[in-house]
Amino acid sequence: KDFRNNVRPNWCPGCGDFSVQAAIQRALAETGKEPEETAVISGIGCSGRISGYINSYGFHTIHGRSLPVAQGVKLANRDLTVIASGGDGDGFGIGLHHFMHAARRNMDITYIVMDNNIYGLTKGQTSPTSAHGFKNPKSTPEGNIENALTPAQVALAAGIGFVAQGFSSDIKQLVDVIKAAINHKGFSLVNVYSPCVTYNKVNTYDWYKENITNLDTIEGYDTSNRIQAMSTVMAHQGLVTGVIYQNNEIKAYEDLIPGYKEEPIVNQDLALSEEDFAKLIKAYA
Ligand code: SF4
Repeated sequence: KDFRNNVRPNWCPGCGDFSVQAAIQRALAETGKEPEETAVISGIGCSGRISGYINSYGFHTIHGRSLPVAQGVKLANRDLTVIASGGDGDGFGIGLHHFMHAARRNMDITYIVMDNNIYGLTKGQTSPTSAHGFKNPKSTPEGNIENALTPAQVALAAGIGFVAQGFSSDIKQLVDVIKAAINHKGFSLVNVYSPCVTYNKVNTYDWYKENITNLDTIEGYDTSNRIQAMSTVMAHQGLVTGVIYQNNEIKAYEDLIPGYKEEPIVNQDLALSEEDFAKLIKAYA
């Protein structure tokens, strides 16, 4: 069960995405998955390269569209463990509507976002998770005039059944939350604070260490309480790590489709007879 391949990532030295890659590989191995039972589908951005760095089926899709492709893969072969992945710009900018609908649809997919609060691949523009006032010498020297989106808050508002966060510096916790997300039967989001050491000089490893609260340190925190989850996320401006919310009562989308079989579609004989094919053509002529 080795999810490593021989492709060398071309991320900058120190990029937080290395830890996310290692955590995904370890979590998959520890959950007992096999590479041929797994698919990693990614969007565009530095983090979008991850589908090429994991020994599994992979699909490097287009900007903001990892989730539609991942849902198609899951519907065609429900036996696969499907991981969608990308960055905050990819997932919460151009891909935000896909994310919100995937969250409420609840197909059994794990979405792992490497959130560095910036567009790294295009050299440092503000992203949807960049803070108001965030300064970058090239794109926003006077400070970001937009307000930041808080991923966990959006996920909870969309009706998600599982949401967790991690930090690239705490790989043990990251492996644990990714494993919990993979084992959750339904759509899950793991938003990972994954610093861009090249273009984001504000949200650094040290900045996160000073500002993140580990939910394990909050006495009486109940991961099954959506109201508490939302109020805690809001009280910490989203900067919490650990499992934020989990609801095991919501059935996965695949289990609710009328007539959708346990046997994956890829294994079914879907060939039409010549007669049925002619009828189909006639119907659409
Ligand atoms: Fe990572 Fe930033 Fe380099 Fe991209 S530009 S690889 S996000 S450090």
